[in-house]
Amino acid sequence: MARTAAPAHGWWGTQWLEYMVHEHLHSPLTSGQIKGAERGDAVFTFGRGQVSVCVEVGSYGSTETATLKVKPLGEREWKRVVGALAERPDVARRLLSGAPGAELAQAFDAADVPLFPTPSGRSLRCSCREDWGCRHVRVLAVRGAPMLDLNPFLWLQVLGRSREDLLAAVRARLADQAGSEQGKPEAALLSVSPERFLATETDPVAIPVRPGSSTTPDALLRMLGPIPLPAEQSRFERFAEVELESGGITYEQVVETADEVLARFVQQISSGAAELAAGDRAPRHFDEPLPGKRVPLKQRLVPEIEEAVGRAEGCVYLGELWRACPTAAALPWNLAAKALREAWNDLPEEYVILAGHYVARRSGLLAGTTFRHVITFSEWHSGQLDLGADWAWMMGMAGFAAPYPMQIGQATCQSDQAFDLLALRVGDELQITVADPMAPLLFATLQRREKRSLTAALDIDREAATLVARHLEFEEEDGIEYVDAVELLFAHGFYREGRCPDAAWLLPAPAVGNQVYWGYHGALTAQSWRRTGMAFDQYRFGIWHDRQNTLNQFAGTLLQAGLTRKEVDQALAFIEVWIRHWPGDQRQARHAPTLGALLHFLWNAAPVETRRVRLAPEWVPFVMGRWFRLLSEQNQKLEPVFEPHIAACDQAEAYAYRQATLPVGRNEGAAMEAWLMEGYRWIGRELCLGRQGY
Ligand SMILES: [Zn+2]
Repeated sequence: MARTAAPAHGWWGTQWLEYMVHEHLHSPLTSGQIKGAERGDAVFTFGRGQVSVCVEVGSYGSTETATLKVKPLGEREWKRVVGALAERPDVARRLLSGAPGAELAQAFDAADVPLFPTPSGRSLRCSCREDWGCRHVRVLAVRGAPMLDLNPFLWLQVLGRSREDLLAAVRARLADQAGSEQGKPEAALLSVSPERFLATETDPVAIPVRPGSSTTPDALLRMLGPIPLPAEQSRFERFAEVELESGGITYEQVVETADEVLARFVQQISSGAAELAAGDRAPRHFDEPLPGKRVPLKQRLVPEIEEAVGRAEGCVYLGELWRACPTAAALPWNLAAKALREAWNDLPEEYVILAGHYVARRSGLLAGTTFRHVITFSEWHSGQLDLGADWAWMMGMAGFAAPYPMQIGQATCQSDQAFDLLALRVGDELQITVADPMAPLLFATLQRREKRSLTAALDIDREAATLVARHLEFEEEDGIEYVDAVELLFAHGFYREGRCPDAAWLLPAPAVGNQVYWGYHGALTAQSWRRTGMAFDQYRFGIWHDRQNTLNQFAGTLLQAGLTRKEVDQALAFIEVWIRHWPGDQRQARHAPTLGALLHFLWNAAPVETRRVRLAPEWVPFVMGRWFRLLSEQNQKLEPVFEPHIAACDQAEAYAYRQATLPVGRNEGAAMEAWLMEGYRWIGRELCLGRQGY
């Protein structure tokens, strides 16, 4: 993973950040806060007496504006500064050349004027009213730094002098000092002969360079002679702007030869370069077309992205591509991000986009990755590993198709044969490691459920949930799909040795710490008001009023099976508990309890209930199994529906394990949460979140 830290700043950026942190924010920025501040759209405005930034919030185009107010310098203070500048030729020269640095601070010192004035009262505000705690003021601090590095005059403008005014004042002062004794600018044009130029023994360093306008900026073109093009191909038309005497503007068609087009551009480029060199113009990006066939941005970006990803190891973040691709680096962030995202679609097959923010190469993507996979009821029942699991999703991203060859101990099999080979049970865990990223060979090690710790992964789960929550806060306030969370974690170096969280859908479990929640349709969200419960709380159908009849029949079958009257009463009491959990008429196919609801009752609720009613634990699966058999016998339509229900009840030792591991005594709260989370692991994502496989 090649994430860079906060970019290094130049002198101005560093000063600005220190000023913001010490004088305004009053606490250092964490690397997380810096990263957060670097994301999203932000538009800066530097004006006299204030700097503000308009930060886009969420994806609905709403914004917040953070503003720093600074008292501009007075007339007298500026005079002192200009005087101090003119006294130091080196500083003045740097200033005039457009690159004022640390010496400028000394000139301010010499003039006894603070370059970064100490604030009086509250000078930092934000429209979100959180004031200095919010992300928007951090955007102001963090992203203001590179802007001042690029153009320090922005700060002088805040202090009250535009660049032009300040330079004019310094020039005037220098001219006063110099009097008229020396130097008109020399004539810039040299006579050039190509032979002499190539044969010269002159050291190029010794050639004086005088930025400034030349009387013949196209001298080089004239020397090269006309472009060898036939006349009919050397004819170009364009519209030129013409000012009318009335003050308006009109357009007039102009016909030019190739030489004229080239000369026009050379003149514009050289005069622009001269202005830049002399500091009379700030660098700026123009998105204007040049003549000829335009190469679309994304066509230029595709090879640049490939090169940048080739240089990096692992996944490259969008913001890093912005810096690494020359074409993107020349664009403002919002345009660059859009162009890079468009270019992603044109990348060759070999490249893959993760979570919408990261690019990686497929080959080697999964080198050394390890996933935790706890067997769910649905998997056990179908005898197949779930191909929607985190590891299977990432195998698909790497371009492999199931089934995958799997090595388990000494044996090798296909991933769809693992159940037979290992006699897997619900709650057993496979650690699945990608042994060879170029060929899809998986190593699997098995841990039986009795050997697993229910809390072993919680620390790394919390770390993963924190990352997802932060991503949700800054990038996707509406929540993300489960698979995007998997990709995000992957891009951030999870699923490696020692950094192996639970399946991403389990990160909202209360045991992990409530930073993210289950949102609608199995998505993850950071908004507690957007969350949904587990799906088995959502299916409740009416009240089963005439249930007594069925209960009587149930009592009959139990007596026939040889139970005592007392045992039958206990069993009936327990079924009443189950009916409280699923109050609808369980004989009706359309009100039939879902498998998820049954498993939730059986593995999460019943162990607690039976402890309360002092029922022998081995009775629960037996009684529940009998109950579903009776319902199936009474309504043939329910036979296929309840087949997995009966299979679940027949898993007596699975129930016994849940009952035996139910926490008791002190620390019950945290232990109980971890125990419940294990129950959810067993039930699985599909059944917990309502995508019923049955
Ligand atoms: Zn704010």
